[in-house]
Amino acid sequence: MKIARFDGGRIGVVIGDRIHDVSDACGVDPAEWPPMGMITTIAAFDELVPGIERALGLSVGQPLSGVTLETPIPWPHKLLALPNNFRAHTAEMGGDPGAAGSEGFFMKSNGALSGPAEAIAIPDRPGRNFHYECELAIIIGKSGHKIALEEARDYIFGYACLIDVTMRGKEERVMRKSFDTFCPVGPWITTADEVGPTDDIVLRLWVNDKLKQEAPVNDMVVGISEAVVLCSSVTTLQPGDIIASGTMSGVGPIIPGDLVRIAIEKVGEMTIPVVADAPVTA
Ligand code: MN
Repeated sequence: MKIARFDGGRIGVVIGDRIHDVSDACGVDPAEWPPMGMITTIAAFDELVPGIERALGLSVGQPLSGVTLETPIPWPHKLLALPNNFRAHTAEMGGDPGAAGSEGFFMKSNGALSGPAEAIAIPDRPGRNFHYECELAIIIGKSGHKIALEEARDYIFGYACLIDVTMRGKEERVMRKSFDTFCPVGPWITTADEVGPTDDIVLRLWVNDKLKQEAPVNDMVVGISEAVVLCSSVTTLQPGDIIASGTMSGVGPIIPGDLVRIAIEKVGEMTIPVVADAPVTA
């Protein structure tokens, strides 16, 4: 199933080129604050499926092109991320083994999350470089601590596309990766059962229609299950937590006016414009 958030916090199921509103079936009030509806939906998903399927049976849906898709999980408990985690990219970054070595994982601010209809806003920081990083978002489905490798997949709800936008430089990584809009996620969550086997899934990213990054999931140094094990060995994972896979070779700069497209087989695709953020006036 492809589960989206749209039009001000509504929960939808995407089938072909239509979206079906299942907010009521999921018990979600789109106007709620804070916006936890997708997390409560994920946490109770197995119990909600019969009601969602009944709602789908009665729904004619509406054209996907007529709604505004939003970042699926705007207020996750945690947004975790792996550094330098594809074989070719570790070579590009000077052979640093990243997550497979001493680095483990890091965190981005949840506040960086943005959706498929939002632009990446490049801050007014003259002389600085801002890079795209094509990544797979692993969406956690249930609470777990010290998860065993053979059980890791049971804790994964689904997957989405994620761009880990990064200001290069010497400041703390969490700051350089936490500007507003520096974590587009979407266009929806594709559930793990629908994605099926992940090893051969290819991740791709283009800038202005030029292919910049391309690698299969099985090039990850720390694989999907191993990422769940690594993160949960430190911190209890919660439904709706997001783990960014780390990126592959081919990272490079983006500037206002660029158009970034990310596509992950069996998961989804989204195209994000890059704009200039307003200068800091304080
Ligand atoms: Mn990254």
